[in-house]
Amino acid sequence: MTRLDFKLEATAAGSRARAGRFRTLHNEVLTPTFMPVGTHASVRAQRREDVLESGAQVLLANTYHLMLRPGVALFEKLGGIHRFMNWPRSVLTDSGGFQIFSLPGSRSMTEECAEFKSYVDQTTIRLSPESSIAAQRAIGSDIMMVLDQCVPSTVDHSVAKQAMELTHRWALRSLAARGDSAQALFGIVQGASYADLRVQSARVITEMPFDGFAIGGLAVGEGAGEREDCTAIVTELLPEDRPRYLMGVGTTRDLLEAVHRGVDMFDCILPTALAKQGVAFTSMGRRDLRRAAYRDIEGPIDPECSCHTCTTYSIAYLYHLNRVQEPQGWQLLGAHNIHFYMELMRRMRAHILDGSWLSFYGSQRDLLDARDSYGKPPRHVTKAQRRALSLRLGRYEVVVGSSNAPDAPNASDGSAGAAVGRIRDTVSGEIMHSVNDPAEEARSLYVEQSRLLERLRRAEPGVGARPLVVWDVGLGAATNAMAAIQCIEAEHAVEAEQSIEADHAVEARHEVQARHALARGAESAGRMRPLTLVSFENDLDSLILALRHPAWFRHLRHPAPRRLLEDNRWLHAAAGIEWQLLRGDFNQTKFRAPLPDLVFFDPFSFKTDSGLWTLAAFREMAKLFSLNAVELYTYSYSTSVRAALLAAGFYVAKGRGTGPKAETTIGLSPLAAAGPHGRELLGEEWLAKWRRSDAQAPLGADDDSWRGAIERHPQFR
Ligand SMILES: [Zn+2]
Repeated sequence: MTRLDFKLEATAAGSRARAGRFRTLHNEVLTPTFMPVGTHASVRAQRREDVLESGAQVLLANTYHLMLRPGVALFEKLGGIHRFMNWPRSVLTDSGGFQIFSLPGSRSMTEECAEFKSYVDQTTIRLSPESSIAAQRAIGSDIMMVLDQCVPSTVDHSVAKQAMELTHRWALRSLAARGDSAQALFGIVQGASYADLRVQSARVITEMPFDGFAIGGLAVGEGAGEREDCTAIVTELLPEDRPRYLMGVGTTRDLLEAVHRGVDMFDCILPTALAKQGVAFTSMGRRDLRRAAYRDIEGPIDPECSCHTCTTYSIAYLYHLNRVQEPQGWQLLGAHNIHFYMELMRRMRAHILDGSWLSFYGSQRDLLDARDSYGKPPRHVTKAQRRALSLRLGRYEVVVGSSNAPDAPNASDGSAGAAVGRIRDTVSGEIMHSVNDPAEEARSLYVEQSRLLERLRRAEPGVGARPLVVWDVGLGAATNAMAAIQCIEAEHAVEAEQSIEADHAVEARHEVQARHALARGAESAGRMRPLTLVSFENDLDSLILALRHPAWFRHLRHPAPRRLLEDNRWLHAAAGIEWQLLRGDFNQTKFRAPLPDLVFFDPFSFKTDSGLWTLAAFREMAKLFSLNAVELYTYSYSTSVRAALLAAGFYVAKGRGTGPKAETTIGLSPLAAAGPHGRELLGEEWLAKWRRSDAQAPLGADDDSWRGAIERHPQFR
């Protein structure tokens, strides 16, 4: 019988990933789990409250450091580490072996013990298997580790073998020293990166009655592939009924790979160490706050994270704290990183338990590693890697293809049309404007179909200079907005450069003068109505990324997008265009925008941006538009999106097809439907099809009121 009573709950099909649980002297631990490192009985820069809130079940403390300060005697006097730091859950102590061999300073090794000089007071300290266990018993950890001899994973076979054999002898002495203590004790498999030694070590160590088994001596110089191979060799030989611990590993991706190979427990300093440098682990890969691109981003560092940092502070604020080296920046980012690690472990466990591990593993492998190479010295980054890196930002990446085949790797032969960039959301895999040339689709579906130019030309008396307002929902790479702007500029035959001069001339940032300039510009441009274009976007990474590649995003060879990013506004006085950017969630920001005449509704699909496609979201829009004539254009023609529009109170008409898509959709507010809109409203035929459909319900519909709203909709009378 072991002290931890480990229970294996599930092993994933097609993988060694496993979920289990065990009980220590203080709490139940669910695996796989990550143990934050509290070297000096404190997780660096973190309050214990925040570590508790992250869900950490076990804290790792370093025997070596605690022996030197505050010293074993203090723990004996005060009754152990739990009381000392008021930590109610489990503590695992390492043996001190790793520090002796990895920290600089003089040391010597005999069969009996290791001797080294204290970095605190230069006295000589002897660390034997017995004295290590005595120290760990005084510290009072729930799980102790045997003293082992660590060698770099790159040493000669003979050196590795000697160290391994000494570790085996010390393991037996450690077990004897533990005696009848209720504290659990783990054995450690050594053997550097030699497969034969790892196999031999696993066989010898698992013969001994340990409560769990660790894989030591990795994360000390070997490559990731070597580490993963080594891990797999060892886990295959470890008994199923004991927890397995991979010491000192690693990045989020390392954890994913090791869980896949059957490891249950991890510790690593990276979450807090990288936080000090300004690096966050997020659901879209690593984000490095040393990059100026984050200077003015308003959203949280990880939109999918529920931690205190993410629900309270913007990237811009965290960027600033890091820039001025404010300790709170380190604290906040560290808390997020620990939360992210713990959440990742919980998600891995859930996927193992519900049988979806393999698909989760596949979806996370590259994602967790995204931008991992950022911040490394340039000499380690190859040209190809750098190029790949610049093709990704946040959760987006650039996909380059011909104008009609987005998945073609390149179009350098010129036969398949010009090379065109598209933005892919790496989380969902969805590509914006995946089928057609994005610029062509923007022109056809939104600018032409909405008769934008005709509406602007209509200088009706009484309308005066009231601008036509267009909402551009889902700015993305600014394809639709620039299609609108460039079509108006072509009408005016005004060069973009001139517009900048005009802006400077009227000091465009000054509201009153800007209005005058817009009115004058409109007048000189043949009495066209001015245009107010309002773009909505919550994540500007896709535009920032596209701006890096003007060769593939030709519509961005224009001063407007950069100016919009800098000022949230761009004016073209002569053409009568005002372009505004509203950052944040459209469902919130729409209330701050002037009411529209036209809506270009072009966010990612419900798979990625589900909140924008719900019945509730369309109802809010319909309510806002109830006293205006508003036309809404969207690329979707799915039954449930049309049902949502109808149930929300829009009239729904067929939109023009684009590429292989036979149709798109136009929503009309009741006032727009009452006028001479000239659209083909959906009729009985669609209603019959909807009744037969198994996707009748609008997204997010909870009660059944929508059904009657569609059946009794005036457009079907
Ligand atoms: Zn967070």
